Amino acid sequence: MNKTKEITVLERVSKKNEEIVKEIRTIFGENSIICFNIMGSPGSGKTTLIEKTIEKLKDKKTIAVIEGDLATTIDAERIREYGVDVLQINTGGMCHLDAQLIRNALSKMDLSAIDILFIENVGNLVCPSSHDLGEDYRVILASVPEGPHKPKKYPVIYKEADVVVITKADILEHFPDFSIEVLFGHAIEIKPDIKTIKVALKGEDIQIDDWVYWLENVEPKK
Ligand code: MG
Ligand code: ZN
Repeated sequence: MNKTKEITVLERVSKKNEEIVKEIRTIFGENSIICFNIMGSPGSGKTTLIEKTIEKLKDKKTIAVIEGDLATTIDAERIREYGVDVLQINTGGMCHLDAQLIRNALSKMDLSAIDILFIENVGNLVCPSSHDLGEDYRVILASVPEGPHKPKKYPVIYKEADVVVITKADILEHFPDFSIEVLFGHAIEIKPDIKTIKVALKGEDIQIDDWVYWLENVEPKK
């Protein structure tokens, strides 16, 4: 008896979440918004990737950002400096964003103006992978200092990702044990059609063009 009840509750919850995701997809479709869910460890360069992408594209596209953080508005303030619309979600300790939070955030944004929406997820390689936010693409960041084995250690998030972006390639020379080929190899083992892109966002030799090219040319998923 108790068991049946519990299952019913779980089904209701997941159905409700699916409905919210559907609503979000409809909103994106109606407003011609393409949405990217940016996931990665704390310090992997999520905010920096968004900043540099805005610098590259702001004259061509209207970009908006939803910033997910446990506390603080530090990252949102960084993004706001670029003059784009930013909405901060403080999760109050919750380690991921969910569709309900995104749905609420969208109700506060000027949707018709937006071409590209970035959602910066909470820095975490575990549970963001099991929450559909209605995004078109899931992007997982793997920074050079983290080493090449993250796909093996956190296979679920890689399985759910469309693209792996290697960040901090500008400091590769200081990490002789890091191998891009090894990381890509692990990622492809888990998700054979995962797209792989390398970026260097600081220092003299900025490399971001492959990422921006992909971003500009990818089709919405609906
Ligand atoms: Mg950040
Ligand atoms: Zn979580």
